[in-house]
Amino acid sequence: MGRETHCSRCECRISEDEERWAFEEPYCDDCFGTQFSYCERCDTLIHAADGNYMQDTCYCDECYDKDFCSDDDAPDNPVILPMDREEIVNLCREWLSGKSKKKRHPLRINRNHFELDKIMERVGRVSRPVYVYGLLDRTQYDFCISPDLREEVNEFLILNGIYWKYFEIEGFRRLGFCKRLRYGESDNVVKLLKYICKARKKVLT
Ligand SMILES: [Zn+2]
Ligand SMILES: [Zn+2]
Repeated sequence: MGRETHCSRCECRISEDEERWAFEEPYCDDCFGTQFSYCERCDTLIHAADGNYMQDTCYCDECYDKDFCSDDDAPDNPVILPMDREEIVNLCREWLSGKSKKKRHPLRINRNHFELDKIMERVGRVSRPVYVYGLLDRTQYDFCISPDLREEVNEFLILNGIYWKYFEIEGFRRLGFCKRLRYGESDNVVKLLKYICKARKKVLT
């Protein structure tokens, strides 16, 4: 005699052998799959929205910090990930050939992270898109940037008198925003993204 429960999210009926449990609550298979992820490294169960994503692979905070945000191990010459290589080469080519064809693209975002779709829409199409993902709130910093964005980000923060702390991560044209910025300061997040994604005549040195 199977017990019957209801999914905590969609309230559909689930039989005992279909139940998936997360943080003491039962879920149907579908809801479990959209709401939760396992850390790629340590298999901890996490809310999908709270995961840290690198190349769309999910990591818990601890593993992410250990693997990607370690200050001491930050290389002077950051590793360029294979999927970014083509983008870098194309951007360089375009810049070198002085092509001013105004091809505009939307931001690339991690669609599992809340508020980013709204932010992407508000930024609209831009000449030089970036990849944006979500972070949990931290005390040490408010957002993450890849080192190539440092100058433009500093410029923006100074010009606008904004005191957000950032942490540098590896990669190219990537930013991660903590929850409190995504929810509470989205106006400035949109402004920052527009600032760093607009076409520039000259590359800052
Ligand atoms: Zn469900
Ligand atoms: Zn982990």
